[in-house]
Amino acid sequence: MNQAVRCPKCAAEVGDPTQPCPQCGYIIEHPQRKRYQKHALVSLVVVLLGYALGMIGTATRVDVLGIGGLLMGFVGGVWLMASLYLLLRTGV
Ligand SMILES: [Zn+2]
Repeated sequence: MNQAVRCPKCAAEVGDPTQPCPQCGYIIEHPQRKRYQKHALVSLVVVLLGYALGMIGTATRVDVLGIGGLLMGFVGGVWLMASLYLLLRTGV
């Protein structure tokens, strides 16, 4: 059974929190929000790991590791920005 949820904006009763409030249109819980959060977290790990590998590769003069790590960090950064952008659109 669905629990009754109240809109935090206008206190109207909302049946499904992933649907816009029938009173004011506020979306309490965006259906994709959890997915974007997961993406943001995973991409952050990729960025940190990529740059860490890049630094290790540079320090040890292993070019493959250095270039690969920096590339991984860059791709992770773009991924992170996209995730954060989508996450912000769901309303933080
Ligand atoms: Zn409302």
